[in-house]
Amino acid sequence: MVVTTPKPWDEIRFALGDGKRWIVMGCADCAAVCQTGGSSQVDELAERMEDEGLEVLARVDLPSPCDRRLTRRDLKRVVRELEAADGVVCLTCGGGAQAVAELVGKPVVAGLDAHFVGTVERVGVFHEQCALCGACVLNATGGICPVTGCPKGLRNGPCEEANAGACEAEPGLECVWERIWERLETLGRIGAFGTVRPPAPPVRRPRSTGRRTR
Ligand code: SF4
Ligand code: SF4
Repeated sequence: MVVTTPKPWDEIRFALGDGKRWIVMGCADCAAVCQTGGSSQVDELAERMEDEGLEVLARVDLPSPCDRRLTRRDLKRVVRELEAADGVVCLTCGGGAQAVAELVGKPVVAGLDAHFVGTVERVGVFHEQCALCGACVLNATGGICPVTGCPKGLRNGPCEEANAGACEAEPGLECVWERIWERLETLGRIGAFGTVRPPAPPVRRPRSTGRRTR
């Protein structure tokens, strides 16, 4: 899931500018799990905006804002409000906010900061697992990501400063390459570690494969 945190109110307020009438949209998926864009957070932000004298025309929970097909369908429920609104505040990741922006054709204010793809330990505690590097090495590393696990993001082996398994860059952290080695030993796949991999390619960004539609 995409892990997000709320933007400071001052930043959101600045982005709202002179707009008076808004729709607040949340994400019932990742952002709801993060408790940054669920229905409670939509209500909280809407009430904050109303306290500031702004009008909130609708509060919307989008099941999956980054899925344009679903979002296009769900926006039909608030067509009138959208026509009357000066813009939309999105408590979603940047993908969701951009999907909404393209579909509504009005100013969209992003209310969250997205950080990484992570797993959930418990409410409010997440582990960064993937930085979306575009060239995954998990098959060679026993399923442990060195890009997110190493403070230097090293993906072809440990740095020279690794000290008896301790990370030299972050006190208290075990070197991720130590963990990778142990995992591969346990799995009997140590050969994968020894494979010489070429330098990391430039980060590949996902591309749109189709026409943009409204
Ligand atoms: S190697 Fe790259 S794609 Fe694979 S989990 Fe790590 S950051 Fe994500
Ligand atoms: S000690 Fe290991 S985890 Fe720490 S910076 Fe060096 S390679 Fe990365």
